[in-house]
Order: sequence, then structure tokens, then C-alpha cells
Amino acid sequence: MSTFTVLNPATGNAIQDVALANVETTDRAIEAAAKAFVAWRQVAPSDRAMLLRRFATAVDNDLENLAAMEVANAGHTIGNARWEAGNVRDVLTYYSAAPERHTGLQIPVAGGVDLTFHEPLGVVGVIVPWNFPMPIAAWGFAPALAAGNTVVLKPAELTPLTAIRLGELAREAGIPEGVFTVIPGKGSVVGERFVTHPAVRKVVFTGSTGVGKKIMAGCAEQVKRVTLELGGKSANIVFADADLEKAAASAPGGVFDNAGQDCCARSRILVQRSVYDKFLGYLEPVVKNFRVGDPNDENTQMGPLISAGQRDTVSSFVFEADGGAHPDMAFQGTAPDGQGFWFPPTVLTPSDPFARSLQEEIFGPVVAVVPFEDEADALRIANDSKFGLSGSIWTRDVGRALRVSRGVEAGNLSVNSHSSVRYSTPFGGYKQSGLGRELGPDALDAFSEVKNVFIATE
Ligand code: NAD
Repeated sequence: MSTFTVLNPATGNAIQDVALANVETTDRAIEAAAKAFVAWRQVAPSDRAMLLRRFATAVDNDLENLAAMEVANAGHTIGNARWEAGNVRDVLTYYSAAPERHTGLQIPVAGGVDLTFHEPLGVVGVIVPWNFPMPIAAWGFAPALAAGNTVVLKPAELTPLTAIRLGELAREAGIPEGVFTVIPGKGSVVGERFVTHPAVRKVVFTGSTGVGKKIMAGCAEQVKRVTLELGGKSANIVFADADLEKAAASAPGGVFDNAGQDCCARSRILVQRSVYDKFLGYLEPVVKNFRVGDPNDENTQMGPLISAGQRDTVSSFVFEADGGAHPDMAFQGTAPDGQGFWFPPTVLTPSDPFARSLQEEIFGPVVAVVPFEDEADALRIANDSKFGLSGSIWTRDVGRALRVSRGVEAGNLSVNSHSSVRYSTPFGGYKQSGLGRELGPDALDAFSEVKNVFIATE
């Protein structure tokens, strides 16, 4: 069996070797999940709820350990990593209420009684990227389990440690064997098998748009259900009437959190031309004072990038091939040098609307700031993207806030803040940012079929 050496991105040092599953071990896990489904779907709703609450408690009791693992494996700041482990607990708790509330309908018809039932799908395959290993896993597995499905989950090669631990915690909490199985392995082996194995009835994929398209095409072969959460190029739109200092103070957090490796990163800042220079003046000191360093330090705001490869990709947006700064570079913050995959927060001011930095997802701490004229121009620029995941609008005019929120083609918008994800509200993308929605009150519907039954009374 092959292995993958997991690195600490803050130091570049090896942490441990993780065994990678091959097709045979993947098939065995899927078949065990299919067998476990027969009993799991019959577990009384109140018992399934209790098991999910126990799982949530096990995660809570292990929170510091899970957070420390994520700091070491993904370079997340300790504050973020604690939030992420807490998010797994909260998502499990939220969906533990669902098995007893996933009610069907009784529809008035002639000649009898008509009922609808929500039936679980079977085995659900969850494929997770490296940028938020814990929350993204839980957004798939918690509602899938609550709806009565069994789950096989593949973490990203680079960040398998917390997922493996969550699998252990599920068993310790009493979730039966085969109901939730974590299978570390390559996307091209384990992930692809989720797509091709007929016993997997749905694939939940979060990752790059390119791989997402392949998965969707593969799932079409078996008309397999699929949810896609893909890339983003979200706009942070700042109008002249906004609290400019507040907008500038919060903009770096809206894009540099998790070192910009966030599908919701507001990596384009659109500023009304009349206040453009003033906004950049407020932004510069905040970027230069952004605290980048040891992710274990409670005061750190940003850690390293995930890998040397990711740092090379990010650099290509900021530096020319000869090593000189790109002409669009406005200013940079600081980052540690030496070992680890560090990159400083960077602000670009491109004049070409087709600049790569305005069109492509960078997935690093780089933001492009551009001016706009009026509301219509702001919407035109914001929507000039193949993506449509999230975005922010800064204004004191509530009518404008609502008009622009309705006009931006994206699934998750926030006004005078950069909030995107709450477990109790729906999350997902427009256009090439994805297909379907996760989280919120309706997530169980994405993990079940509706069955209609008519009973004649005459
Ligand atoms: P990726 O697409 O390379 O990999 C994501 C996962 O898919 C990994 O587990 C990988 O092993 C697996 N995979 C790769 N090839 C596969 C294949 N052929 N078949 C099945 N599985 C395969 O993405 P990444 O580099 O790990 O993650 C970064 C990307 O994820 C970014 O583009 C980012 O925007 C996106 N993302 C989106 C969201 C969202 O909710 N929309 C959230 C986080 C990340």
C-alpha cells in the first residue's frame, strides 16, 4: 500500500506518513457502507438523533486535540482551528434535531389519501478539499447521516489527519461500523471510485471547478446525484456613502483569512471612484500591520499557504518570470522568511479588466482593488466572472444594499460584513461556483428522495 507524507506547512517538516487506499480497499469500504445502510436506515429517528448528539459531544471533548492537529497539518491559526472543530460539533448538533423533524406531506386528492415520504439514498461519497478539512467534511456527512444514509469520506491528500480522527470519534460515540468511514487516498483513485461505483448513490464534492466538472460528467453515466461546491472570485463592493474606515479595516480579513485559501475570499475589492484613493489610504496600514506568523500564536491573523506548489501558483500573480514585481503591485504586508510556505498579504491595482488577478481564483493572500462609477457599473464588474459564490456590499443606504444584493449573481452575500457561512442558513454557488446548496434547514432534502404513495379509500 502506498503512503503520503503529511507536512507541516509552517515549517515544511514531515508530520507523519498516511496510508493511501487503493481501488480494492475503497470497494471494500463502499460495500461495508452499503451493508451498514440496511440497518442504519431502520434506526429509530430518536436513536439516530441521540447518536449524532453523542458524536457532537465526542468532538467537543476532543476540540483542543482536533484544533492542534489542524494547526500542524494545514497551518491554520489556532483561533480558526478551534472555530472549525467547534463548527463540526455545531453542525452535528443542528442536524441531530433533523431525523425527528424531516416530515412528509399529506396532499388532498380525490378517492383516497396521498402521502409523501423522505427516503435515504444509500451510500453517500463525500470528497473534501484541503482548505477547510473539518467544516467541509461535516457539512456533507452530518446531514447525510441524519437523513439515514451511510457515508464514505475522502479527505484531501494534503490534510487527512482531522478527518481520520473524526472517523475514530464517530465510532467511540457509538455510530455503528460502516456507517461513517474515512478513506484517505488519491482523488484519481478513491474519489473517482465514488463516482464510478454503483453502490454510491450521491457524490458531494467540494474543490476546484475543473475537477468538479469531471465529477459531474462522471456522475451523469449513472444519473448519480451530485452536489458541487467549487471556486469563487467574490466581490467586496464599497460605496462612497459607506463607513469607509470600517470597510477598509475589515477588507483584509475578508480576503486574507486562512491565507486567502477560502472559496468565499473577497479577492476583488470594487470601490466607488470618488473615494477610491481615500479607501486605499485606509487599507494600506491595515494590510501592512496584518499579523502573519506562527499559527500557534493566539495573536496571529494569518498562517502559511498549504504547500510549496500553492505558493508558486500565488507568486505567479504577483511576480514576473524574472522575479520582478508585477506592474499592478500596489503594496504588500510582511511574512516570515525561511522554512515554511509563507506569502505576504498583497494588494494589486490592475487597470486591465481582463487581468488574471481579476478573472482567476488565486486562492492565496492577494487582492485586486478597482474603481467603479455607479451602482450599475459596480454590478457589471461584480458579475463579470464565471464564478458566483459570495460577496459583500458596504453602504449606509438600505435600499441600495438590497438592490445590489439582489443584483449580484452569487449565492451568499453580506451587507456591511464579510460573513458567508452559518450552519443554519443555505450555502452554495451560482454559475461555475457550484450546483445545489449545503447547510440550512433544507439540507436533508439533498440527501433523500421524495416518495409519493396513494392509498385508495374507495
Ligand atoms: P481539487 O479539486 O484538486 O481537490 C479536491 C478534492 O477532490 C481532493 O480530495 C482531491 O483528492 C479530489 N480529487 C481530485 N481529483 C479527483 C478526481 N478526478 N475524482 C475525484 N476526486 C478528485 O481542489 P483543492 O485544490 O483540494 O481545493 C481547492 C479548491 O476548492 C479551490 O478551487 C476552491 O475554491 C475550492 N473550494 C470550494 C469551496 C466551496 O464551498 N465552493 C470550498 C472550499 C474549496
